[in-house]
Amino acid sequence: PTRAEVSYFGAGPAPLPTHVLEAGAKAFVNFEDSGLSLAEISHRSPTATKILADTKQALISLLDIPDNYEVLFMHGGGSAEFSAVVFNMVAVWIEKRRRMAEKEFGDDQGAILRKVKQDVQHDMQLDYLVTGSWSLKASQEAANLLEPLTPNAINVATDARDSNGKFGSIPSDEKWSLSSSKRSAFVYYCDNETVDGVEFPGFPSGVEAQPGEEERLVIADMSSNFLSRPVDVQKHAVIFGGAQKNIGITDITLLIVRKDLLTTVPTPSFLHQVGMFSPPVVLNWSVVAKNNSLYNTMPIFSIWIAGEVMRSLLATYGITKLKGQEGFSDAKARTIYQMIDWYPQVFQPVVELNARSRMNICFRVKDPETEKEFLDGAKKLNLLGLNGHRSVGGVRASNYNAVPMQNVRKLTTYMEEFADRNP
Ligand code: PLP
Repeated sequence: PTRAEVSYFGAGPAPLPTHVLEAGAKAFVNFEDSGLSLAEISHRSPTATKILADTKQALISLLDIPDNYEVLFMHGGGSAEFSAVVFNMVAVWIEKRRRMAEKEFGDDQGAILRKVKQDVQHDMQLDYLVTGSWSLKASQEAANLLEPLTPNAINVATDARDSNGKFGSIPSDEKWSLSSSKRSAFVYYCDNETVDGVEFPGFPSGVEAQPGEEERLVIADMSSNFLSRPVDVQKHAVIFGGAQKNIGITDITLLIVRKDLLTTVPTPSFLHQVGMFSPPVVLNWSVVAKNNSLYNTMPIFSIWIAGEVMRSLLATYGITKLKGQEGFSDAKARTIYQMIDWYPQVFQPVVELNARSRMNICFRVKDPETEKEFLDGAKKLNLLGLNGHRSVGGVRASNYNAVPMQNVRKLTTYMEEFADRNP
C-alpha cells in the first residue's frame, strides 16, 4: 500500500508528519544542497551546532520553558533515564546533606562524612508512583541500582495494580504514602503509561509540598505524551522523554532539568566515601550540560527531525501552541472512546474513566475469539499497529500527534461496522 492508504496506530516508534519525513529523506542524502547527508556531518560542525540550538529553541518556545531550566539531548532512550534519575538525584540529595553537615561541623571532614553516610543509610528515600508498566520498570531499576548499597531506599508510594496484577487506574492521592519531604530525594511519576493506557489528567497535585514542608523534587517521564498538551515545567525538577513518539525518531532522549540541580553535585570521591556510586559519564546530567549535549557523538539527523516536528507544531497552532495540539488530541481520543462506550456489549475499556490516556487507547473486544478477528480484519483494511502490548494483549490504538483525524474516523467506522456485525 501507499503511505496514504495506511492508517498507523503503532505505540512507538510512531507516525510522523509526512512532510517531515519527505524533508528528512532529502536531508538524509543532501542537506540544504551542502553535498552532505545530515548523517555524515560532524556533530561539532557549525551546521550541527545550529541544528542543536534551533531544536532547543523550538522546544523552549513550545513549552514556555523558563530560564532556570536547561534542555539536554541524551542517549539511551527513556530506559537510560530510569538509571540516570537515580544516579543524578541521589548525588543531589547527598550534596544537600553534605552542605547541611558542613554548617553543623565546619571543616571537620570526618564528622561530615560520618553524618552523611548515616543519612544515606537511614534517611534517603526515593518515592515512586507506580501507575503502569513503565513506572514499575523505573522503580525496579532504582531498586536494582540501590539495593546493594541502601536496601530500604525505594518507597513505592502507590502501586496501582489490582488484585489480578493489572494496571488501569490512578489511586486517589489520599492513599499515597509519600515519604517525608525532608527524606525524599524525589517523587517520580510517568505521565502517560504507554502499555496500560493510563494517563494523569494533569500535574499530580498530591506531590505538591504542603505548607511548612520542604519542596519535593518531581521527576516526570513524558516519553509518550510529550508535546500533546501544555506542561507546567516549573512544577518539575526534571522532565524526560524518548523522542520516538510525539517528538521525532528514535535515538535521542530529551531532558528538561532545573539548572540548580546541575550544580548541586558532590565530588565523585565524596560519593564513594559515603558508599555511593558516582554517575556514569554519559548519564551524568552536569557533564552533558557542560558540554552542550555534545560530550560524545550525538545523532544530529534525529535532532533535526525533532526540530522540524516542533517547528511544524509552532506553525500549525501559532500562539495557542500546545493548547491547540491538546484540543486536537482530545477530540481524536474522544472519538475513539465514544465508539468503545457506544457498544458496551462488544468493546470493553480497560482503564477507569479518570485515568484514560488520550495517547494510548486500550480496550478489549469482549470475546477473545472475536478479538483476534477484529485485529485481523483491521489489518486487511490497512489499520495497522493496533495490537496491545505483548505483556497485556487486547487492542491499543495509539493516538499520537501525527495521527490525522481522518485515520481515527477510518478506525471508528471499522469499529462500528464490526460491532454491528457482532452484536
Ligand atoms: N517510558 C515510557 C512511557 C515509554 O513508553 C517507553 C517506551 O515505550 C520508555 C519509557 C522506554 O523507552 P526506550 O525504549 O526509549 O528506552
